[in-house]
Amino acid sequence: MQLKRKRLRKNNSMVKGREIFDIVKLGQLKREINFKNILQWNSKIFKVNSIREIYNIPNFQNPIGWQYLQDDIVRTAIKHNGDTITVAITEYELEDNFYMRRVAKRLTVISLYEIGDILQNYNIPIENFIIKNIYEMAVLTHLYPNLPNTRDEIPNIIHDETRGCLFDMNGKKIDIIHSTGKLIICPQCAALLQQKDLPQNFVYNLTSEIKKIRKQLFYRISDFIKKHPLWSIVIGITTQLLIGTIAGLLANYFFYGFDK
Ligand SMILES: [Zn+2]
Repeated sequence: MQLKRKRLRKNNSMVKGREIFDIVKLGQLKREINFKNILQWNSKIFKVNSIREIYNIPNFQNPIGWQYLQDDIVRTAIKHNGDTITVAITEYELEDNFYMRRVAKRLTVISLYEIGDILQNYNIPIENFIIKNIYEMAVLTHLYPNLPNTRDEIPNIIHDETRGCLFDMNGKKIDIIHSTGKLIICPQCAALLQQKDLPQNFVYNLTSEIKKIRKQLFYRISDFIKKHPLWSIVIGITTQLLIGTIAGLLANYFFYGFDK
């Protein structure tokens, strides 16, 4: 099935300054992912143009026999003309157990292997993870138009330290929870982006849009309670007292009037 909003003109990889993405579901995806949310994500940085599925992946033929998906298998499976940035999403493990690899120019693969379970355990929507990576790819494409594949180069904006930043390396996959539960651009990366030749308001738009990538309200409240149990009790008691007082005042007003 293919969801397609409109056909792109040939060689037109950007619409109104936004990078255009196509998503490919590569192989069977075992989890529920709301692709409609991703397709309709409101952004001045990128636009997802279409979502398609590829069921038939060539057999894995890696020399050491592990069931991971090599970069060249992804390249072979996906017909990719380079007009748009194609992001393949798979459940399979990738080379070096990375969760994201650039396998060719404007062709990236994202793996939910292990990451899917981590996100689920921390009540973080998988869509957050996918959208976060799309933002990362959109920015990297602006910064490094000729960026080679992951085997050859890791861009220098990516940092080893985990800061909850769009450019965290997340060498330990568990660290992904910090940049998908609440995503920021760290001060170091913000300063670096300000020095680059980017479209007008790019950094401003990026910073404000990624604030929307966070846990759902219920889980944010739940996290707050776990983190600050005493404060939660104080807030709970104060709220109950306030509600009781207001209810009493209203009852007084309606039944007796304040002047009696
Ligand atoms: Zn950073």
